[in-house]
Amino acid sequence: MIKNLIYTFSTIANPYKVLGINKGASIQEIKQAYYKLAQLYHPDKNNAKDAAKMFTQVNNAYEILSDENKKRMYDTCGVQEDNEQDFEEELRGNANGYQQKVRRKQSKGKYYSKFHQAEYETIFSEFDLFFQQKHGKKKAYYAKKKGDDIKLGLKLSFRDSVFGGKHQLSYRRQKTCETCKGSRCAPGKSGQKCFSCGGSGWLFYVDGGSSMEVKCNNCDGWGKVVRDPCLVCEGSGIVEKEFDIEIELPKGIQNGTIIRQSRYGHASKYSGEPGDLLIEVEVEEDNSLRRDGNNIISELELSVSEMVLGCKKQIQTIWGALEISIPGAQQPRTKLQIPQYGIQYGQSQWKKGDHIVILNLEIPQQLNERTKQLYYELLKQL
Ligand SMILES: [Zn+2]
Ligand SMILES: [Zn+2]
Repeated sequence: MIKNLIYTFSTIANPYKVLGINKGASIQEIKQAYYKLAQLYHPDKNNAKDAAKMFTQVNNAYEILSDENKKRMYDTCGVQEDNEQDFEEELRGNANGYQQKVRRKQSKGKYYSKFHQAEYETIFSEFDLFFQQKHGKKKAYYAKKKGDDIKLGLKLSFRDSVFGGKHQLSYRRQKTCETCKGSRCAPGKSGQKCFSCGGSGWLFYVDGGSSMEVKCNNCDGWGKVVRDPCLVCEGSGIVEKEFDIEIELPKGIQNGTIIRQSRYGHASKYSGEPGDLLIEVEVEEDNSLRRDGNNIISELELSVSEMVLGCKKQIQTIWGALEISIPGAQQPRTKLQIPQYGIQYGQSQWKKGDHIVILNLEIPQQLNERTKQLYYELLKQL
């Protein structure tokens, strides 16, 4: 972490040095120095190993010094010329030692030295700002982090899917800790600005001409570090709780439908919006009824004589038992359509699909003598 920051810092910290000019140099002198060095290190002309890296540094330096605002920012918040050497050496030489020192001091419950805190905070927050401008990133990491979504499965009986209605669900959900109100700190305490990222939650890696930003691992993107954590949430700012919700399912909800309940997901760890609750509906199959759009389909077994002569039969629909008259002379797999006995769609009770009965011919497996005789007579007849 420290190493990367030093790299960032040293890559952009010495534009005067990189261009080999004094701090008071005029814009003309800056330009001249830049053109000279840019030509010298241009990767097309210079095959040396470090040429590309030097070329990038020269460009970065020129970008700062040729822009009035960036130059002013660097001049005011950058390292002073007279102590530049010492400070850089301290950063480089003590990178590990410093980290250890901070850790050691933290473990004793003390704060790290005011000097370091001030230096780091000023320099890195200003440079973060600089990078944010350079890379067009204005938002802090935590500012755009909403809570995680929660995905739940909901098994519905065929009947419940047809008629919809209210359903109770229980699930575990991360909520903002009520004790610390999400501040993660013990009562009366507050978080300290993270010295690694200057409070932005981002770390910037600069390597030659390319740069990359990642979540700050020192503060986990929060921008603050907690010295005295809230004991209830153990410094996380969130607690997990059982949560009940009542949802209203529409009539005729389909298998695989995903219902989104906005803001019923996990709380954000970064004071952002909560995530959403996503409920995926799984409709169980029914033994005798199945669905085709808003129509309900069932099958009915009829004997040869019932098929030929017609009959009355009781069938099960989603609206209850129904007696139907089947006329004679039916062909197997004929579909009988019973209007208004399907799934209701829309508000009006008249907007319903149909119930479709498929007629199947049932051939007897075993015949007694009498029946056999009748079939023989039938056979002669036809
Ligand atoms: Zn708490
Ligand atoms: Zn941080």
